[in-house]
Amino acid sequence: MQIQWNQIPPNSRTEYTLEVEPGKTISVIVIKGANPGKTLAVSAGVHGCEYVGIQTAKHLASIIQPEKISGTLVLLPLLNIEGFLRGCRQVMPEDGKDLNRAFPGDRTGSFSKRLAAVIEEEIYPAIDFILDLHGGDMNEELTPMVFYPAEASPETTRQSLEAAEKLSPGLLIASSAKTGVYSYAAQKGIPALLLERGALGRWTEQEVDQDTGDVVRLMAHLGMIEGPDKPLPHQLIADSCFEVAPEDGYWYAYASAGSRVKKGQTLGELHRLDGSLCWAVESPWDGIILYNTVSLGVSRGNPLVAYGRWE
Ligand SMILES: [Zn+2]
Repeated sequence: MQIQWNQIPPNSRTEYTLEVEPGKTISVIVIKGANPGKTLAVSAGVHGCEYVGIQTAKHLASIIQPEKISGTLVLLPLLNIEGFLRGCRQVMPEDGKDLNRAFPGDRTGSFSKRLAAVIEEEIYPAIDFILDLHGGDMNEELTPMVFYPAEASPETTRQSLEAAEKLSPGLLIASSAKTGVYSYAAQKGIPALLLERGALGRWTEQEVDQDTGDVVRLMAHLGMIEGPDKPLPHQLIADSCFEVAPEDGYWYAYASAGSRVKKGQTLGELHRLDGSLCWAVESPWDGIILYNTVSLGVSRGNPLVAYGRWE
């Protein structure tokens, strides 16, 4: 099924099913307002265990009423359905790949590539902005933050950052990612953000309310609803580092997400399976811990800790 965007009547709510491959679909909920305006896509569940965003998208589908909005809200409430059902960290079980590294898509590729192609072909052409909802994974703690695409066209970066300043997380992180749902959209000239909230395989009503509030703020910023449209206090993080395990082993984290760290401070130690020290991760600058792996066991290539430079 294809979405005939220009045939959707105003003041309507329609659920579509898009086929990724035979027997495998995703759902798209289109809430078209009574009045014309911008089209905002909100996606969730790229990573199947990041529950705050997933529950937020489901919640939005039930509370946003078409007669109250201008423009169109497009919800992609659960992109990695199988990962969600099976409790798979980061990847899509169908091909073991991370959808956030799968763009550009390919209709003849593996499942992640096909799904990327569906989003690229069916959703991107219809939207003015995309917000992708994430959180920490089952084994990660994090502090709420917003990533904005720093390596898109200057105008796309400017529009993305201007919107990010209206959201509630105080940390805005410049991202060089280009191959994810939101970051590839930015490469195509669509302003885009990634919001991170919640972690450790948990979700609370309070966090869902906070995520929902941020979507409503973004809708106000885009002129889709009445509401405050003022920048909130924030800190720009222009430089960040994402450390991954060079070997299998034991991970001892010494600094928790959201905490400030000093240049030279040890953020954690990776010990090999034989107990010898593999790596003592030190901060190269005064910074802040963005997220942190809390599981003791890590395998080569797993994330350990991410930290930003505090200006
Ligand atoms: Zn994620």
